[in-house]
Amino acid sequence: MADVAAGGKSGKVVIRNIGLMLSGDIDRPILDADTVVVVDGIITAVGREKDCDTAEPDSLIDACGTCLAPGLIDSHVHPVFGDWTPRQGQIGWIDSSMHGGVTTMISAGEVHLPGRPKDIVGLKALAITAQRAFDNFRPGGVKVLAGAPIIEKGMVESDFAELAAAGVTLLGEVGLGSVKAGYEAKEMVAWARKHGIQSTIHTGGPSIPGSGLIDKDVVLEADADVIGHINGGHTSLSEAHVCELCEKSSRAIEIVHNGNERVAIAAAQAALQLKCPHRVILGTDSPAGSGVQPLGMLRLIALLSSLGRIPAELVFCFATGNTARLRKLNCGLIEVGRDADFVFMDRAQHTAGRTLLESVALGDIPGVGMVMIDGLVRAGRSRNTPPAQEVPMVVGGH
Ligand SMILES: [Zn+2]
Repeated sequence: MADVAAGGKSGKVVIRNIGLMLSGDIDRPILDADTVVVVDGIITAVGREKDCDTAEPDSLIDACGTCLAPGLIDSHVHPVFGDWTPRQGQIGWIDSSMHGGVTTMISAGEVHLPGRPKDIVGLKALAITAQRAFDNFRPGGVKVLAGAPIIEKGMVESDFAELAAAGVTLLGEVGLGSVKAGYEAKEMVAWARKHGIQSTIHTGGPSIPGSGLIDKDVVLEADADVIGHINGGHTSLSEAHVCELCEKSSRAIEIVHNGNERVAIAAAQAALQLKCPHRVILGTDSPAGSGVQPLGMLRLIALLSSLGRIPAELVFCFATGNTARLRKLNCGLIEVGRDADFVFMDRAQHTAGRTLLESVALGDIPGVGMVMIDGLVRAGRSRNTPPAQEVPMVVGGH
């Protein structure tokens, strides 16, 4: 099941006997529902079994009382091509992340490509090629939104118009290229926004030798749509400056696994105190110097819930519905009309937590029992998480 191309229809899928349904919606994180119906990859009903049209499914799944949540969205990855990363010389990292519950990944720039072009025509060509390649090929079925150019000095508005017309919707991390000054970044971010391209800025100290510092004043002046790895990637700004960014900017607060963990907690708590929890989104920033982290999203969720003392059902929304809304994706929420991208979880065997949510609040990661993308089963019991207590079963269909 490693390489599943895009395409293929799910037909009618009925998922019954769901023990806990996490919606992804931070205003209503838990749904009073035990059944989901999917037709050709799109959710058509969510509710109690007696209220849903469950007749004649092509596929019937008994969730066996486990938790259904939207598939996790990793807001910050650095893909290159296919399921290969040259950063740590690994293959299969995207499929492995799918076994960690990730169904969508968003590129923050294809920066690890050996010999990455930095001239303007070259960087545009790379972005368009990466967008096309991942649109045509989904490792493990994961939706990889790629083609995120790293902006360089000398770009003009028509470059952004050309990228947008060619299907590019994202900028890679602002600050990884030669544009590092606030006033320069601000102009290009505004051009990108005008042409419908969403932007992310690198925040904090240099990632590796050769990259540079982006401080809070540059982040505020550039005003990118996403304050990328607000907790550093790896080196964080001071906690005071991070809290100032949460307060003075209204943009997305992106927290990553590969950053400073203490500041990750501080940023999430600041957002809650400022009454803007909907701004918090999560990513891994993998692959990077810290490596490939197939369970990075689940580990970050457990960190924020346990040490950050944030209810687990809210933290799951940071990794799903918040990201979907801020990035205008049709996944990430369990509601009619959304993509049927799901992760089925249960408490890991022998956790001290009595329920899934309690186990996460105690700092344990859940066991993944099944992953579904566009209504198609992409994995059964995860090969990477600790074993889930119960796992869903495909029990019928025609
Ligand atoms: Zn970065």
